[in-house]
Amino acid sequence: INSLCNMYIWKKISMKIIDGKKISNDVLDEIKNHVEDRVNNRKKVPHLAAILVGDDGPSQTYVNSKIRACERVGFNSSLFKFNDNINEDELLNEITKINENKEIDGFIVQLPLPSNIDQEKILTQVSPEKDVDGFHPFNYGKMTLGIDTFIPATPSGIVELIKRYKIDLSGKRCLVIGRSQIVGRPISILLSQNQSFANATVTVAHSRSKELETLCINSDLIVSAIGIPKFLKSRMVSDNSIIIDVGISRVDDETSSKGYKIVGDVDFEDFSQRDVMITPVPGGVGPMTISMLLKNTLKACELKDWLLNLIH
Ligand code: NAD
Repeated sequence: INSLCNMYIWKKISMKIIDGKKISNDVLDEIKNHVEDRVNNRKKVPHLAAILVGDDGPSQTYVNSKIRACERVGFNSSLFKFNDNINEDELLNEITKINENKEIDGFIVQLPLPSNIDQEKILTQVSPEKDVDGFHPFNYGKMTLGIDTFIPATPSGIVELIKRYKIDLSGKRCLVIGRSQIVGRPISILLSQNQSFANATVTVAHSRSKELETLCINSDLIVSAIGIPKFLKSRMVSDNSIIIDVGISRVDDETSSKGYKIVGDVDFEDFSQRDVMITPVPGGVGPMTISMLLKNTLKACELKDWLLNLIH
């Protein structure tokens, strides 16, 4: 009886994991099925390319996992690697070549770029039809207006988790911590839109925000995208909250062969006895980012089919 009671208590107060790895695998399986259908119907195999400038360790890791994911679903992929002494004009030229390459359906420019290169100029050079990261102002504007387009992969992955876990955000108080162009800003826009998965009342907090703890405790859903390890503590959130941890930070770890481990913005262990839903790091938003990038690439490929059909 004692152990049954313990189990009951444990069950009642342990946090629930939002399993991004599992959902990401489901999405990748679905994409793989689409690719197989395309091959059976003699349609083009989708092709994703990545531009990588310099030898930033995390950037190389991210690009490699994107290429591995392409292999898993049967996409073709290409990596265009450049030294960090490439200048802006040369890089713009390379992008034009990829824009014109009929074999490539979508491509990304892995960020960050070296400081001598104007990121905005580079991202604006990417052809909007191949902009599977959704960072071109044309696609970003469409997203803001709620028009169907390429949604940046990380916010798109968060939306997918919300949909697949059937989380009802209508009228709920959502706090987005961080206002970056790639995560905080777009997810705050998406969650406030008049869409079945959204309709939330969204607050955006950032480095200048005051009384963040009060904002946190009064929120039903918190999306944290700041990059400060273990920033969000259990005492800062209410019971039944949903916490989406976007942060990825490397912290020293002598027990790991690499000498570091990856942690999120959330002090995960601190939440173990709390009645909350939470995305772990790793295994939460990260894998979703990759699968949604591939979903955008499939969309780019299908868009091209559609355009070609119109011409013929
Ligand atoms: P960023 O690094 O460009 O900016 C950080 C943001 O956090 C800024 O808007 C800043 O105002 C805010 N901020 C900083 N300190 C704060 C504080 N004390 N209180 C409140 N706000 C504060 O943002 P980013 O590029 O969105 O990256 C954020 C984190 O998310 C990083 O750890 C990054 O590695 C990670 N990330 C993960 C994925 C993924 O796929 N999981 C994708 C992109 C970024």
